[in-house]
Amino acid sequence: MKAVVFHGIGDIRLDNVPEPKIQESTDAIIRLTSSAICGTDLHMIRGTFTGMKPGTILGHEGVGIIEEIGSNVRNLKVGDRVVVPSTIACGYCSYCRTGYHAQCDNANPHGHNAGTAFFGGSEAAGPFDGLQAEYARIPYANAGLVKLPKEVTDDQAILLSDIFPTAYFGADIAEITPGDTVAIFGCGPVGQFAIVSARLFGAGRIIAVDTIPSRLEMARDLGAEVIDYNAEDPIEAIGELTAGIGVDRVIEAVGVDANAPDSGPAAEKAQKEAQQFQQQLQQIAPKTNPQNGNWHPGNAFLIVN
Ligand SMILES: [Zn+2]
Ligand SMILES: [Zn+2]
Repeated sequence: MKAVVFHGIGDIRLDNVPEPKIQESTDAIIRLTSSAICGTDLHMIRGTFTGMKPGTILGHEGVGIIEEIGSNVRNLKVGDRVVVPSTIACGYCSYCRTGYHAQCDNANPHGHNAGTAFFGGSEAAGPFDGLQAEYARIPYANAGLVKLPKEVTDDQAILLSDIFPTAYFGADIAEITPGDTVAIFGCGPVGQFAIVSARLFGAGRIIAVDTIPSRLEMARDLGAEVIDYNAEDPIEAIGELTAGIGVDRVIEAVGVDANAPDSGPAAEKAQKEAQQFQQQLQQIAPKTNPQNGNWHPGNAFLIVN
């Protein structure tokens, strides 16, 4: 089968590789009908996250059809159309039962203290072959795969693999209450869904910050008030829009590989803080230590305060 294979930093190839086989009774094999590229894949390719084992198939977002199931996948059948959540979880440990699938005690073969297990990630995250392939092996398929109704298209369902839930989780832990003014930094795919999610939680005003015109345009179409950080100092602009009061909630939808203002009134301040910015980047993505603990496989870390 064909698959997108990681060979090294800056070196991925569409290779012919052997098809996956059922290894455990809880496995399923799916034929991918849709797969997506996430910002996290770019981290692997750029080397922001190290520790990728050459030969690993990339990708952790997918929709497909079940081709084969193990004897202990009792809730699904061959032919079912499913969306694949990006993280892998057993479904029976205490963390899974409480809803913390990313903290599963059993899915990561490196043991209880290892980080989140997910498709197409580093050696420390499994490694598990990913979903940018014609076929994939899905461990703990009974707990992970979500059966799709006919009405939901592949293009809609693929967003439920990672990007929409990542953003929704950010809006959820932001504890938005009806009428809140919410600032969202970053208007990539996760940022756009953070806007949608903030709206679902009843936000009154949403202020979205980015610099890429197409992203700002989409944010505006979704009803956000937009700020270009290269044209204005975003902090001053937020102050002006809220009569100096500021916002009630902030969602950080940028994560690593972040950019800082390089023109306009905020650029000078950003230059002064460049060293601190680099230190923070080093803390978030320590290139020297690929064995670092848990991290969310979305292309954003959603930090809320
Ligand atoms: Zn992703
Ligand atoms: Zn578990």
